Amino acid sequence: MEEVKRLEEKEKKLDDIRRESENKKCPVQRLLYYIDEFISGPMCSKCFPCSLGTAEARIRLRRISKHTETDIKDIEVLERIGAMMIEGSFCKKGKDTGKFIIDLINSSKEEFQNHIYGICSSTECIALIEYIIDPELCTMCGKCLEVCKEKAILGEKKKPFQTGYLPFEIRKKRCTRCGECIKVCPEGAIKINILKPEFA
Ligand code: SF4
Ligand code: SF4
Ligand code: SF4
Repeated sequence: MEEVKRLEEKEKKLDDIRRESENKKCPVQRLLYYIDEFISGPMCSKCFPCSLGTAEARIRLRRISKHTETDIKDIEVLERIGAMMIEGSFCKKGKDTGKFIIDLINSSKEEFQNHIYGICSSTECIALIEYIIDPELCTMCGKCLEVCKEKAILGEKKKPFQTGYLPFEIRKKRCTRCGECIKVCPEGAIKINILKPEFA
């Protein structure tokens, strides 16, 4: 009994999950965060609409965020899942989660649809963006090189009174889009490019 009580106390509340999800600017990432946290915390698998619904929602959201084999039906399915959870969930947690799904999609419909075309305007879906260095702005100071744990940046730090240096470059295949390099670049030379695969 004590153990159950302790687990209940440790369990995250929906309000906390909702508040934390607001750290994400992208509505797809916000919903994915909410669903991930709900599945690993308050969701108890006692009823189908909620347990199956959230599992399916997670699959669809991952597809949308990565722009892999996704289409407009994924958004329609998410809406159906939300409605089904409001209708058929046994407890308030499931119903509130269904409502969260529906409300978020309704308030950010255009952004959800843009993801179907491969565009994340908040630049938080890392499969839909790339980091690039503007050669006009790069002064070859080497600060980005020091923070990139992935060794994704190519370049040699410029020494005073020496010439022949080339602007730095980011190796796209190695870059994990962690954003650490942007924080340290004193010239604002590192930019985030939205890939827009459908229009490329
Ligand atoms: S709706 Fe409630 S009872 Fe049903 S699985 Fe979700 S958390 Fe459990
Ligand atoms: S975003 Fe991260 S991984 Fe990519 S180049 Fe910058 S520091 Fe390296
Ligand atoms: S931190 Fe900025 S200016 Fe310095 S080398 Fe990297 S991209 Fe160039």
